[in-house]
Amino acid sequence: MSMKTLTFCLSLCVLALVASRCHKGPYAATNKSYNKQVKAYARELRRNPGGQTMATATSWVGTTNFNMRKPNLVVIHHTAQNSCDQTLKTFTLPRTQVSAHYVICQDGIVHHMLNDYLRAWHGGVGRWGSITDVNSASIGIEVDNDGFKPFTEPQLASLMTLLDTLKHRYGIPTANFIGHADIAPTRKNDPNVNFPWKRFAEKGFGLWWSDTTGVQVPASFDDIDALKVIGYDVRDSVATIQAFRRKFLQLEGSKTLSDGDRKVLYTLYKQALR
Ligand SMILES: [Zn+2]
Repeated sequence: MSMKTLTFCLSLCVLALVASRCHKGPYAATNKSYNKQVKAYARELRRNPGGQTMATATSWVGTTNFNMRKPNLVVIHHTAQNSCDQTLKTFTLPRTQVSAHYVICQDGIVHHMLNDYLRAWHGGVGRWGSITDVNSASIGIEVDNDGFKPFTEPQLASLMTLLDTLKHRYGIPTANFIGHADIAPTRKNDPNVNFPWKRFAEKGFGLWWSDTTGVQVPASFDDIDALKVIGYDVRDSVATIQAFRRKFLQLEGSKTLSDGDRKVLYTLYKQALR
């Protein structure tokens, strides 16, 4: 082989290498890490037959009838970051210890970051009803938003399609589409006050209140008990009332419920009892 031919071949090799790296994209290394972790969990699932038994059992008898556990709750967040790229980076850095199943960018592009059957780290400390390990029960969806701006139409449309898919695939109840602030009212306010919960509830994602004209709130009606029935953690009732007003009245600020707010709460309470 002549020197010229060798140089040409080497140039081709370099080009092929660069092209393959470009093709793999900036997340090639973290995708590899994801696959490695998934394989480790697959090994864990295979470990029991013929191996060590769990808890206090003395023998292993593998049943023939089972499938995977399903998510039963969807938690919607805003990223409170400046771009989708920033969020993708945050969720692929081990030191941040945060993640979500899906990230929806302002142009409506949806990034799937974790298999729906696996547990993302998006909820932190929080509870909904009697569920205290929200991450184990839920799918986490992060919508790219700085925490203050309105959400874009393309991202709301993508979110609507995604929620529809999840609802039908896993049989998630209407009332179980909630926001991060619902499960952690003392720490979180996402998705922000501009999130159109009414629009989503009309499509079957989350509860919404009915017309309150003529509604009479019974004298015995207890606001805090009602918030608890809906699912809220009421240990800090002021924070819970603020979360409730932000979501259902799209209002920030007041720490108490007006007569009109109590009518809204009453109609929601009655729906939650069904
Ligand atoms: Zn959040």
